[in-house]
This record gives sequence, C-alpha cells and structure tokens, in this order.
Amino acid sequence: MAKVAVLTTGGTVAMRHDPARGGAVPALTAADLTAVLPPGAPELAVEEVCNLPSSHFTLGDLWRIRERVAAHAADPEVAGVVVTHGTDTLEETAYLLDLTVPGEAPIVLTGAMRTASEVGADGPANLWAAVRVAASPQARGLGALVVLNDEIHAARFVTKTDTLSPATFQSPGWGPLGRVEGDRVHIPWRLEREVLPCPRLEERVVLLKLTIGMEVEMLEDALARGARGVVIEALGASRVPPWWIPIIQQALDAGVAVVIASRCPSGRVWDAYGYPGGHRTLKEMGCLFSPGLNGPKARIRLMVVLGAAQSAAEAASLWNGSSRPEESAWR
Ligand code: ASP
Repeated sequence: MAKVAVLTTGGTVAMRHDPARGGAVPALTAADLTAVLPPGAPELAVEEVCNLPSSHFTLGDLWRIRERVAAHAADPEVAGVVVTHGTDTLEETAYLLDLTVPGEAPIVLTGAMRTASEVGADGPANLWAAVRVAASPQARGLGALVVLNDEIHAARFVTKTDTLSPATFQSPGWGPLGRVEGDRVHIPWRLEREVLPCPRLEERVVLLKLTIGMEVEMLEDALARGARGVVIEALGASRVPPWWIPIIQQALDAGVAVVIASRCPSGRVWDAYGYPGGHRTLKEMGCLFSPGLNGPKARIRLMVVLGAAQSAAEAASLWNGSSRPEESAWR
C-alpha cells in the first residue's frame, strides 16, 4: 500500500486543555496524533515540523513548512502528504502549497475546531479522512486540498467561514470538490492546476481592506515602510473611492505592484462602470486583479510572484499569464 507522509505543525488538533494555563495549549506530538489512526491505515512517514498555534506562524515558519512538504512530495514512495495545521491561517498555507509545490502527489491539509480534550473532538476523524484522501488515486494531480468535516475542498477556493463551527471550511460560490463517505473517497470534479516558480517569498507585501469613507493613510504608511506589493480588498467587484486614485498611481509609479481583490466573500473582480475608481480606472492605471482569490490568498500569490520576478513588468506578466487558464474556465 502507498506511503503517506504526515507533517504536523500544531493548531487546535494538537491541543489539550491545561487547567494551569486556563485554556487549551499545544500538547500532542506527531506520534500522539497518528496513534489514533485505525488498523489498516497506509504506512506513514511522520514528521513534526513545529507545534504552534497558526496565529503564531511567521513567514519563516510558512517557508519551512513548504520546504518540508516539497521534500516529501518529491519522494517517489510517497503517494500523498498530509499537513495538520491550525485552522486560523490554514487556507493561506494550503494555497501557497497548491501554487508552488509541483508534482502529482496530493497535499491534504487538515485540522480541528475542537481540542483533543473536548467531547466530540473532530481531530481524529479529520486526520483519518485526510490520510485516506492523500492515499487516494482520485486525488492525484489535484494539488493542495483541505479536508475537514468529511468534505474535500480545493485550496484555491476554500476559506474559514465560521469562528467556531466544525463545518467552518467552505468554498463560497463553488462548493466542495468531493467528500469522504465512510471508506470511500469521492471526488467528482477536477481542477486545472496552476504552479508558479517559487525561489523565495517577497515578504514586503501588505493587505488592506477598504471600508466606507476610508482615508489613504494606511497605504501611505505601507509605501513609506517600503512595501513592494499591496493587495487591496476593494469594494464590490473592484471599486475604490476616487480619493484613492492618486495614491494608487503613486504606488504604481514607484514600481509597487497593486493587486485588486474584493472584500466580498465570493465572486471575481470585474465591473462595467465608467465612473472614477471602478475596474476600468484601475485597469487603465496598471493595477493587477485577483483571479478569484480572497485577499489573504491574493497576498500569498503576490509574495510568490514578486519573489520570482526580476522586474515589475515580469511580475505583471507572471501574474496575468498564469491566471489565464482560470479566466478561460469562466467562459
Ligand atoms: N488557534 C488555532 C490555530 O492554531 C485554531 C485552530 O486550530 O482551529 O489556528
């Protein structure tokens, strides 16, 4: 039977209540986590990368996870890789792995919303489902997947939608790619995968969320601090207040990449308006547009693109060229 690599990084799935600290804290080792898997599980290669709440991850931690996943995914004896991860930032790690780790071996991220000391802890069931998906021939070539609550989601579309529900991971507007049904893995849909080169991450990329009447200080501040890329979660299908246009132009003139995403939970960025600050204005100015990614994932993609590109022009063509397959999937 194929071998599955299980890399643990922490999160609630590896936490237990500690009365002395008044709450749940990291406690379970990689061996503790995998000990709950039933007989008949595939052979495992287990590695503890770290044991942290995912809100504590630095970009250095993210890079280390990526490197370890890439190493296991390249092993011809490994059918698939499972990563256990805190749910708070799981979608960003999942998308980075999807975008940058080549190969056919599926990378399956999972976690838990209830700690190991709670009644109804969801960690063991989620881990077992993730291992089965990682070993499944149906998952080959699908890149990174997120498996919780017996649902299989594409890293590109999935997001944490609820602060507490075990059904928190959803793909708004798309739905899951498949399900784990008892012993069966069922994946009826296929996605065309996009893989970009990733020699490093450009860390100087910020994400700003627009709100009604918002002034431009945060963008001014980001530029003054040397941001090389800015992702703006714009209003609706890609609109900014007119008083944002000069500062966005200033950023673009300084060679800073500006990506427009949306603060809406689903949908792409495009509109047909002719008034200032709409999609047309931003496009003519030279902004880039998120290919259906939410703000945090568009930031990951911009960090990858700017880490690989040697110039603003190359970054723009990497950004736009590689989003074309997804564009055409919409027609
Ligand atoms: N605080 C946790 C984290 O590490 C939340 C979770 O895992 O559900 O992200």
